[in-house]
Amino acid sequence: MDCIFCKIIKGEIPAYKLYEDDKVFAFLDITQGTKGHTLIVPKKHVKNVYDMSEEDAQAVFSRVPKLAKALKKAFNPIGLNIINNNDKPLQSVFHFHVHLIPRYENDGMTLTTVNRQDDYEKSDYLNVQDAIVKALNE
Ligand code: 5GP
Ligand code: ZN
Repeated sequence: MDCIFCKIIKGEIPAYKLYEDDKVFAFLDITQGTKGHTLIVPKKHVKNVYDMSEEDAQAVFSRVPKLAKALKKAFNPIGLNIINNNDKPLQSVFHFHVHLIPRYENDGMTLTTVNRQDDYEKSDYLNVQDAIVKALNE
């Protein structure tokens, strides 16, 4: 399979490795969006969240605090964003990965949520809730 992250895990192409155990591999994202920008990937090839079992998720997410604490200790950022992209066009590498992005004053990153409460009435919240709960129970 022609997967760049599987090749990194196997050592077939180089990466700045940070951590490895039987389930996960963590390394520096090549772009270094901010200093310390890190990726954690499962060793098992899984495309994205839609293909993951709870066990697959447990393997990756359980290692996130370890890497987050190391980044905090190493660089003392003002904060940390944890993001994960699924499906095109957001996802560009189709081997599941979690981004850990330490944040610094004036770091030029624009990862913020938007407050749309003013656009939402109770019926809107109820419709959204209904659609999701229905999907969960189908
Ligand atoms: P996505 O957009 O799929 O969430 O993020 C994929 C990430 O993988 C990008 O941030 C990109 O910089 C990183 N990436 C792509 N190719 C390589 C590579 O060969 N080595 C490393 N270290 N990171 C890569
Ligand atoms: Zn892979």
